[in-house]
Amino acid sequence: MKALCWHGANDVRVDTVPDPKIINPRDAIVKITSTAICGSDLHLYDGYIPTMEKGDILGHEFMGEVVELGSAVKNVKIGDRVVVPFTISCGSCFFCKKDLWSLCDNSNPNAWIPEKLMGHSPSGLFGYSHMMGGYAGGQAEYARVPFADVGLFKIPDGLTDEQVLFLTDIFPTGYMAAENCDIEPGDTVAIWGCGPVGQFAIRSAYMLGAERVIAIDRVPERLQMAKDGKAEVLNYEEVEVGEALKEMTGGRGPDACMDAVGMEAHGTGPDAFYDQVKQAVRMETDRPTALRQVIVACRKGGTVSIPGVYGGFVDKIPMGAAMNKALTFKTGQTHVHRYLRPLLERVQNGDIDPSFVITHRLPLEQAPHGYEIFKHKKDNCIKIVLKPGQAA
Ligand SMILES: [Zn+2]
Ligand SMILES: [Zn+2]
Repeated sequence: MKALCWHGANDVRVDTVPDPKIINPRDAIVKITSTAICGSDLHLYDGYIPTMEKGDILGHEFMGEVVELGSAVKNVKIGDRVVVPFTISCGSCFFCKKDLWSLCDNSNPNAWIPEKLMGHSPSGLFGYSHMMGGYAGGQAEYARVPFADVGLFKIPDGLTDEQVLFLTDIFPTGYMAAENCDIEPGDTVAIWGCGPVGQFAIRSAYMLGAERVIAIDRVPERLQMAKDGKAEVLNYEEVEVGEALKEMTGGRGPDACMDAVGMEAHGTGPDAFYDQVKQAVRMETDRPTALRQVIVACRKGGTVSIPGVYGGFVDKIPMGAAMNKALTFKTGQTHVHRYLRPLLERVQNGDIDPSFVITHRLPLEQAPHGYEIFKHKKDNCIKIVLKPGQAA
């Protein structure tokens, strides 16, 4: 089959590789009809996630048709249309039972690596390094889905791929990040980053009862899409964000602040330059420019929600501000299995059509070009959907 493979920093190629096979009774093989490139794929593309190997298949946002089933998978049938959460979960461990699916204890065969780095391992992830399980990803014609009896969600007829594809990651991720803001009636939520997750967080914050959402970015088309989602917007290249937020909230600051940027933040101040230098010489794994602003801007007693991806260690976090202002921190990879069905219902009800975020549709063969325009935000690119099997 054809698959998008990692060959090093800024080097991905569409290669011909062996088709995946059932290796466990709980496996399924899915023929992929739509798959997306995610902002977190750029951390792999840029070479910032350790334990990648040449030939690794990328992609963790995918859906398609069930073409083969292990003997233990009874909840779906051959031919069913399914979406697949990016987090791999067993459904029966301590954490899965607690509805904390992204913390599954049984799905990362390389758990010892994160255990050394983080104390414990999160769940395995599709297409996201050997440290996260070494699973082949879904930017391919086919994928093997382990624990398919809990990891495949059947899609009802009448919904297009583009309406449901983002249930695999970015819609639940934006939604959980908004839920993590502990929104009360009248609240103002400020969101750093108007990429795809930020866009879903804006809309989810309103669904959860926020009075105002203020979105922060610098890319005009992303700010426009945020405005279309009824956010007030701030361009951090034009205003001092902290001052502007104070002014907009009567001096108090937003009730909740969200970092939907993560480890490769761009900034304009001296601390942003410091982070770039330290990350370039590998003295720091992550650039927490947005996170620092989030902590300083948040009102006293407020909540900091962090859906942005961090991989390792961050520097110069204003812990004094966090402690003295009594901030609550909430973060984590998304418990996709928990949110998938309720959010699917929201799509069915017409509360939201997630396809609004798509700017590009490309055949799989053009995925390397897709990574380039997505990384450099060329051609107004916000979200790319790849169509395996479609002629280039
Ligand atoms: Zn993703
Ligand atoms: Zn589990």
